[in-house]
Amino acid sequence: MTPATTFAGRKVALFGLGGSGLATVRSLLAGGADVLAWDDNAASRDRARDQGIAVSDLREADWSGFDALVLAPGVPLTHPEPHWTVPLAKAAGIAIIGDIEIFCRERAARAPGAPFVAITGTNGKSTTTALTAHVLRETGRDVQMGGNIGTAILSLEPPAEGRVHVIELSTFQIDLTPSLAPSIGVLLNLTPDHLDRHGTMENYAAIKERVVSSAGLAVIGVDDAYCAAIAARRGEPRMRIHVEGHGEEAGDLIVQGPRILDSDGASLADLSGIGSLRGAHNGQNAAVAVAVARALGIEGAALATGLKSFPGLAHRMEGLGRRGRVLFVNDSKATNADSTEKALLAFRDIHWIVGGKAKEGGIEPLSPLFDRIAHAYLIGASSDAFAATLEGRVPFTRCGTLEVATETAAKAAAASEAPEPVVLLSPACASYDQFPNFEVRGDRFRALVQALPEAAT
Ligand code: ADP
Repeated sequence: MTPATTFAGRKVALFGLGGSGLATVRSLLAGGADVLAWDDNAASRDRARDQGIAVSDLREADWSGFDALVLAPGVPLTHPEPHWTVPLAKAAGIAIIGDIEIFCRERAARAPGAPFVAITGTNGKSTTTALTAHVLRETGRDVQMGGNIGTAILSLEPPAEGRVHVIELSTFQIDLTPSLAPSIGVLLNLTPDHLDRHGTMENYAAIKERVVSSAGLAVIGVDDAYCAAIAARRGEPRMRIHVEGHGEEAGDLIVQGPRILDSDGASLADLSGIGSLRGAHNGQNAAVAVAVARALGIEGAALATGLKSFPGLAHRMEGLGRRGRVLFVNDSKATNADSTEKALLAFRDIHWIVGGKAKEGGIEPLSPLFDRIAHAYLIGASSDAFAATLEGRVPFTRCGTLEVATETAAKAAAASEAPEPVVLLSPACASYDQFPNFEVRGDRFRALVQALPEAAT
């Protein structure tokens, strides 16, 4: 745990008692702060009380004594409208911050030179964070990984010289971190996302830009127009990542098929045969990890070994192994057509399990990739709509449930003539019509695949 020693003796209002909120309270208390915590949800308040945390209604508090309002990252600062604590904090003239800000202040006080890698972007944050941390760990570095992935930042070990923090940041977290200044800031890509929570695309991009504008070294994927403009504004030191065939900008690191090259064409890494890094999108993620690793002094064989042994993250094109010739892939995290596109691009002869609670536009945007699909197996609430999209273009079966779809697809793939058919769960839909979340959906698929009788394949 990282005690928030820079808050010793100060009074802090904290709103949002989920996982990272509780971790923040513990850190503030350990650092010697006086914390008044609250949540609109009674169950969260009870859970906090059970853990010995003093809970009291911030509506009735004397705000003049507070030094700061600490918000959990999910609590709206601006859109769709500010949470009720925000005007109270503004009226009291105090800073509104999050747990990443507390970490940054702690780092500035304890170990300002300690490497702090902050990673953001619309897509690929978790993969890139996990991959970068993995590559660094494989060389024996002391690595702490967390933030928007896995462990809350203040539950990690404190910043120290020689210890690397690799931290995934969401837009909400960046917005609550006024003194953000990572040693290496990464911005992977920018496409419209969660605009209901960030207002305009310009506002969303401006928040994300802070990760690289405030960084010692900026690593920026330049394959979309927003990131290209940000890279142009940002001076040296700067590493631009370009995936060939995606965007117009030149790169300092170039992804060419499975190879990662420097701007002179020298090969820095080769992703051939690394199952956890399939696809051009993972080329971008891996090139970022290469850029960060090289900036921290890791290259050559050590870098290659780290990339090769990356196990990948669950539910993101997660290879579940083969039954005979048939490869099974769990891409349950793909909750929209954009994400599913990445998976369809990575394979051919696909037996595609698709459907759930559809997003706007459905699967029509994927039609240029329909020739890769041998057969579609429809599940969930979107079945009628997706059947209408596929009619006459892709053979399909209405399966209703994931159980029926998995069994049907496994049999058909095993019986097909293709040399390497793939049964792919990449739903292009939210899971809420049939599952609590995408993790449960993916876990169920994994269990179904593991339970398939060998004989059926
Ligand atoms: P995030 O943490 O930003 O949500 P993840 O690493 O969890 O990203 O990947 C989520 C999905 O986003 C993946 O399943 C894949 O479909 C897509 N994706 C991953 N990396 C990229 C990338 N660099 N560019 C575009 N899409 C990506």
